[in-house]
Amino acid sequence: MSIKLIELPFAETALEPAISAATLAVHHGKHHKAYVDKTNELVAGTDLADAALNAIVLAAANRKDGKLFNQAAQAWNHGFYWHSLSPVEGQPDGALAAAIDAAFGSTQALLDTLVEQGLGQFGSGWAWLVAEGGSLKVITTHDAGCPITDGLKPLLVIDVWEHAYYLDRKNDRKAYLTAATQILNWHFAARNFASDSAWEYPA
Ligand code: MN
Repeated sequence: MSIKLIELPFAETALEPAISAATLAVHHGKHHKAYVDKTNELVAGTDLADAALNAIVLAAANRKDGKLFNQAAQAWNHGFYWHSLSPVEGQPDGALAAAIDAAFGSTQALLDTLVEQGLGQFGSGWAWLVAEGGSLKVITTHDAGCPITDGLKPLLVIDVWEHAYYLDRKNDRKAYLTAATQILNWHFAARNFASDSAWEYPA
């Protein structure tokens, strides 16, 4: 078994104008593909050769294998990022909306926090909405950092590596973040919030 480059869950043009087809083509077809390919190269012939990506990420973190962790976690993070975005407009509802209101006061306050934290992340990384127990918080991770290694349950993520926005926005990370918060997949967030365990990268 090897890790697969999952398909985008929408057409390449579907997120325009927030994120262009040109950006998605490179981001998915080059960057994400490279992380998947390198993960497969690194686990070939090892005890992780047949493992699922979640298990590879956790094993690499436990073993402090930074070379494997960076590739595997980036493969996982990108799969999670594609699912965190949606061309279908929506708003959180039900238990998720209640948890957002309890933690942030309102959905808009959560979105503002995601923009603020994403802007404050120095260099490459990710801005996440995560659940810890039943409560929500926004965190950032550096480089390939992935919250599942800290026992947190990710609900949504925004990629803040420059490759996520430079073609569209040059250095204007705030414009990208603001646009990205308008295309978040609240159904995906609600499924993650309701689940007993972290999202599994599809086999
Ligand atoms: Mn990326």
